[in-house]
Amino acid sequence: MCRRQLASWAEGRTLTGVRVIDEAVVRHKVSTRPSDKLEGGGGVLEGWVGCTAGAPIRHGKRLGWSFDDNGLLIHLGMTGRWVRRPASDPHPKSTRIGLVFGDEVLWMIDTRRFACVVPIPLGELDQAVRRGHGPDALLEPMGGSQLAAAFQTKRPIKVVLMEQKRIAGLGNIHAAEACFRARIWPKRPANALSSGDWDRLAQGIVTQLQTSVDDIDVGKESVYVSEGGENPFSVYRRAGRPCPDCGVVVVAEELAGRTTYWCPGCQPS
Ligand SMILES: [Zn+2]
Repeated sequence: MCRRQLASWAEGRTLTGVRVIDEAVVRHKVSTRPSDKLEGGGGVLEGWVGCTAGAPIRHGKRLGWSFDDNGLLIHLGMTGRWVRRPASDPHPKSTRIGLVFGDEVLWMIDTRRFACVVPIPLGELDQAVRRGHGPDALLEPMGGSQLAAAFQTKRPIKVVLMEQKRIAGLGNIHAAEACFRARIWPKRPANALSSGDWDRLAQGIVTQLQTSVDDIDVGKESVYVSEGGENPFSVYRRAGRPCPDCGVVVVAEELAGRTTYWCPGCQPS
């Protein structure tokens, strides 16, 4: 979760420059498609030079950031992240845009071009960050009965946990890890879960997200596991290796297009 990183790096600082490397990163709406590029978007952001960065807000996987009267909606997609570099250094590989604060630049890197930034009026920022999303999984945690009500569907629980309109903030990794913590088979139809299952899942979601937030060292850059970073997870990307809790070998299977990991010992079908 990069909200705390952006806050520690730049909150209260003056934006002194904008470096647009990939014009299509500035979009007219939250979208994973470069074709939704905002014409002249780079110029809009350059007009914000001299503004002061406010406190970033987060809802699900979206961020909102104020620059005086301007709002910047940020969606990191699947592979986007921010890094900080001295302004004199060349920009890193796969960089899309850079926000300059004096002698430092915050670069948004994204290998797949799904990530975007959307300039909007500040008054619309709070709503825009939430639009189309359910409650934030960590900031507005749902209890077991609320979860049960939000997931009246026979589709697999792990798949629907990733639907941001029902609950915002769970991606492929956290959905699988939350199911592991709750001891629930990820392919189980959501509407077949018992009230005990929902209670454990509600707890599992919050514990999973809180742990991942606590593990972040805001002074350090995060590297995705898929890009060679350390793997702190119990089942994610651990197929063929023993479960840390019971020793049974973790398995993986494609589920709705995403590789899903679970322990058949802890999460029996
Ligand atoms: Zn296990």
